[in-house]
Amino acid sequence: MRALRLLPGRSEPVLADVPRPRPGPGEVVVRVGGSGVCRTDLLLPGGPRAAAFTLGHENAGWVYETGPGVTGVEAGDPVAVCAAWGCGSCVRCAAGREASCEQGRPAPSPPGPGRGRDGGMAEFLLVPAVRWLVPLPGGLDPAEAAPLVCAGSAALHAVRGWEPPPDAVAVVVGAGTVGQLAVQLLRALTSARIAVVDARPGALAAARLAGADLALPPGEVTSGTLTLWSAGRGADLVLDAAGTAGSPATAAAVVRAGGTIVRLHHRASGTLDVAALPSDTALRSVTWGSRDTLTDVLDLAAAGTIVPRVTTFPLEKAPAVYGLLRDDALEDHAVITP
Ligand SMILES: [Zn+2]
Ligand SMILES: [Zn+2]
Repeated sequence: MRALRLLPGRSEPVLADVPRPRPGPGEVVVRVGGSGVCRTDLLLPGGPRAAAFTLGHENAGWVYETGPGVTGVEAGDPVAVCAAWGCGSCVRCAAGREASCEQGRPAPSPPGPGRGRDGGMAEFLLVPAVRWLVPLPGGLDPAEAAPLVCAGSAALHAVRGWEPPPDAVAVVVGAGTVGQLAVQLLRALTSARIAVVDARPGALAAARLAGADLALPPGEVTSGTLTLWSAGRGADLVLDAAGTAGSPATAAAVVRAGGTIVRLHHRASGTLDVAALPSDTALRSVTWGSRDTLTDVLDLAAAGTIVPRVTTFPLEKAPAVYGLLRDDALEDHAVITP
């Protein structure tokens, strides 16, 4: 089968022919319906000692073949595939929080498909354990579900971990896929007033459509527009979904005393000056969601409560799509449909 591979010593992925995976005991082969193109893929090591692997950690499709001993799924079932594969036996894994698996140290998160192991940018994906499959709710296209595996689940995890005070103000820094979904989730699940900060006019327009009350470029944060809008209060919650060199400083400038800053997802990021934060600021880093947040964010999408903005591309176009991603030339979330 054709697969989009990251080869040792290379940073640009290439298409190659690889054998189709066959399921061993307890394993499942998924026919991929959609595999999301994520900015974090640009940060993966293609170093000289790394082994080649297939990209794609945001995957959904249909069960194709099950190995001996697999129960609970059968061929044809629509499924999403969890992105973080923990040990399965520690307390956190038992609670479905495999992203914070106790065996995950010293790496920042457990392994998973498309990050050193073969991912979903191929016709078929081998999933070594059935617990990493989540049923797709009826009517949800795998291509729409793909970005929810990563960005959507993490955004829901971040929003759920926050208890909004009365008249809460939330600020989302960065209006890419994670930021747009965070705005939709804040709108649906809280009564917070929502401001979005992004330098791109198109992203700000999309954020307004997604439910932001105020959308403004970073320059207007420092000039005080946001302070005025929040009546001098500042933000109870800041989601840094941008991960740019300047976004931590923006977060620090708008958070109020007793507020929370969440570094959302896992892009390279500027440095946060902790000493400059107001008193009692809580900091949180969210890379992935949990099995529960993935299940729930898929349900929210199937119900139409949130709508991921997706553009699909065939596998043969995938190398060019990564070029567009590198040049910041993608408006919507790109999903490869092998
Ligand atoms: Zn991702
Ligand atoms: Zn574990």
